[in-house]
This record gives sequence, structure tokens and C-alpha cells, in this order.
Amino acid sequence: MPEKDKRINVLFAAAEAEPFIKVGGLGDVAGALPIAIQKSGPQSVDIRLVMPFHAAIKEKQLPINRLGSFAINSGLGTSECSIYTITNDGLTVYFLDSEAINHESPVYHANPVQDGRKYAFFSVACVELVKFLNWEVDIFHANDWHTAVALYALATNYKDEQLFHKTAKIISVHNMPFNGYGAQPALTELGIVPSNDSYLPEWARLTPLPLGLVSADKIIAVSEGYAKEILTPEFGCGLDEFLKTRSERIIGIVNGIDTHIWDPVTDPYLVQNYNQDNLGAKAKNKAALQKSFDLDINPNIPLLTLISRMDNQKGIDIALRGLNRVIGQDWQAIILGTGNPQIEKMASDLAQIYPERIKTVTKFDPALSHQLYAGADIFLMPSRYEPCGISQMISMRYGTIPVARATGGLEDTITHYRGNTEEATGFLFKHKYPSAFANGLLRALNTYKNKPVWARLQQNGMNRDFSWQRSAEAYVEVYKSLLK
Ligand code: ADP
Repeated sequence: MPEKDKRINVLFAAAEAEPFIKVGGLGDVAGALPIAIQKSGPQSVDIRLVMPFHAAIKEKQLPINRLGSFAINSGLGTSECSIYTITNDGLTVYFLDSEAINHESPVYHANPVQDGRKYAFFSVACVELVKFLNWEVDIFHANDWHTAVALYALATNYKDEQLFHKTAKIISVHNMPFNGYGAQPALTELGIVPSNDSYLPEWARLTPLPLGLVSADKIIAVSEGYAKEILTPEFGCGLDEFLKTRSERIIGIVNGIDTHIWDPVTDPYLVQNYNQDNLGAKAKNKAALQKSFDLDINPNIPLLTLISRMDNQKGIDIALRGLNRVIGQDWQAIILGTGNPQIEKMASDLAQIYPERIKTVTKFDPALSHQLYAGADIFLMPSRYEPCGISQMISMRYGTIPVARATGGLEDTITHYRGNTEEATGFLFKHKYPSAFANGLLRALNTYKNKPVWARLQQNGMNRDFSWQRSAEAYVEVYKSLLK
């Protein structure tokens, strides 16, 4: 086989992945992207996923096979790590099971030292897995801090091993602020020494994410916007100066969404399915929501929705305060989210002040989320920062126009309307203030009155390609560029 047509071997390591376990956006990516990469042609990629055998996955009693075990040596002794495997949609998945990795723990520990230990051991175990398999891995693809230490271990403790001589190292950055600080005792126990890169701040030299960044041949942010933002003090989390020394290795590849699960044409949760050519049918979903939420059943009142984790990152407080500023306009809103009790309360309080037009649901409700994406007219996404974001892509696919903050992946995936009816898909506002949000929303509410323009914006969004296939092709190009 000519070298350029060689199969590319990739180990994709992640803390969580659908359909086994999902806590946040990383679970979506790690569930969908490797499968999309495997299916992307023409160059074949043998990509395999590795993740911890979390207690919650064990409970599912999946039809797994035990492959064997290896030892993880640390200063405190040797722990055995068992390897289990399963196939998901053609993708080989490995679960690593060891006292140090799972011990009945949740996916993420609230205690950073325990969490650090779990993922430091998991990272080293991922490298040991490759040795166990005696598999010539071309690309070791880590994701976020949880698996970043594997790259550093490859560059240090394992650097003389013949098996890894051709292994290129990639880290995808889904969320910079989480860096794994607290893992230091476990790293020392595992014989990992601090980095001597003088551009790294002192605190970062034995911290998982910076160690991964320091070792990576390629750093992939989950959008082009975020790739630029992490080089600035506002988003760089103390690593921006260091990252600037790596700027030629940093690129952005925007995530996709599962276009089968999120499809208004087939979505089983909807009262009425629809596509971009019969947007009138979308109105039935709105009427159903207005009825079930005891709102005025009126097709002409714009229905706003916000579906989000209730977290400071998501800027929900900005939207809630901003809504107060446009209370003189005609609109209704349904807010769905759980998380920070203070933000939940703020959303519930607003619904109590304006019960006839604002409804708040503080739970995690996938079925309702589908109905809201379909039935609403406007989707609110006022994030303080957003590495990529998937909700805005889902909303556009459902013909629900986003009003979002111009940051990270939101700016990359939404084309702001400024009279450019041919390509615009939504409304962006710049500053993270309620007044800026209110102005953005006002522009959307005014445009909503112009039915032909509104329908065009809806169609533009629905016609966009948000599939994983598009992202997968970009990843394969990166893999090819790194083949040694
Ligand atoms: P993040 O991963 O940072 O939470 P994303 O925008 O990438 O943000 O993904 C959020 C996903 O979670 C979307 O699919 C959204 O619909 C879903 N989601 C968030 N909150 C809820 C909720 N309360 N009920 C149902 N789905 C939710």
C-alpha cells in the first residue's frame, strides 16, 4: 500500500461519550465524532475510542468482552487495570477498569484531588492500553484535561518506546477553564515530572491541561473563534501567553450535531413534523406549546425559548435581566434549564412576576427540549463564552432563529442579519450586558414582523450543513498532515 494511502490508526481518548455516558458537550462529541471519522472516506481510518469504565456504565450491564489486563505502576504500588471492549455502530470502544480509575466514583468528582487522581491514572492507562494491544498508533487524540496527561507521558516517560516513535499527539480543547488542577499528588505518584517550559506559569507545570498543550503537535479548539479567543487574556485562563508560543499549532474545527436525532422532518417528539418548504406546519408545534403552557394561543406573538445548563458561563442572568428591558414588546418565553440554584431561582422568579407570558421549567427534559426547538420562534443563547455550542445549531436546524452573543462558536456558526437576507441565519450581540442582549432581541422582534425576511432566515439556517461529516473530514485532514 503506498504510504499516502496507508490506514491511519487513531486512539481517541475521552472522559465521557454517548451512548454510554453523557454529562456535557464532550459526551456528544466523543460519541459522534469518532464514528463520523471512521465512516469518512476515502482514506480509511482505524479510530478507536477509550474511556473509563465508569460505575454508571457498569450498571448498564452492556454486552462487553474482557480483553485482558495490565499493571499501572505508581509510587504507591501496582494496580491492575482490566480492559473491556464493545462495538458501537462499527466503532471499537475500550473501557478501562481499575480501582484508581473508577472505585464507584461519579464521572466527575467534586473533589479536584480525587478527580485528578482518577484522570491521571486513566491517562497513563490509555498509553498502557496501546502497549497491551501492541498497536502502532499514528495519532493519539486526547480531549480536554482528563486525557491530556497521556500526551505528556508519551513525550516524557514513554519517549524511548519504539512503539510510539511515529505517534503524533493531538489535544482537542472543549473548555479551557477546566484544567485538572489538583492532580499534582497523583502525577507525582505516577512518576510524572513537571514541565520545564519557561512560558508555562508556575502553577501550570504539573497541571494536566497545560501538560497536554505543551506536548501536542496540534491543538484543536472546537471552533475557529475559540481558537483565536484562547490566545487572549479574557479566554486564555492564564495560558494565553504560553499558547501564543504555540499559535502555529492551534486550529479550530467546529463541532457538528447529530442530524438524525435533531431532524424536524422525522423528530418523534413533535406534534407536527416539517421541513423548510412547509414552515407553516411548524406553527402547530408552537400552538401546542402555547396550549400546554397556558399561554395565549396566538401565532403572531413571537415565542422565545432558552434551553441550557444553568451555569454562569451561559449568561442566563444577562438574558433574564435583558427580558425585563423589552417587557413593553409583545412576546412569550419558555425557559428550560437546571443547574446553579441561584440562576434557577432567578428564572423562576421572573416567571412568577410575568406568569401570563414567561414560563420556567427547572429540570432536564429532552422531550420538552425537542418540542421547544420546534415550537419556538426565537432561541436565546447569551453565553459569556462558548467554545462551540450545539444548541444554536439545533435551533437553526429547526427554523428557530438564534439571538446569541458574538463569541466563540456562536460567531462561527450564526450569520448575523444586517440586511443580508441571502445568507443570514440569526442575530448576534457583542457585549455581555442586558442592554446589548435587549437590543439584539429587539432587532429580532422587529424582523419577525417581516414575514418573508423571517422565513428566509429560517430557511437559510435549515439549509446549513451542521453534520458531523463536515467536521470529520476536517479532522481527517489534520490526521493526514501529522503522519510521520
Ligand atoms: P454545554 O455542553 O456547554 O452544556 P451545548 O450548547 O454544547 O452546551 O449543549 C447543550 C445541550 O444540552 C443541548 O443539546 C441542549 O438542548 C441540552 N440541554 C441543556 N439543558 C437542558 C435541559 N434542561 N433539558 C434538556 N436538554 C438540555
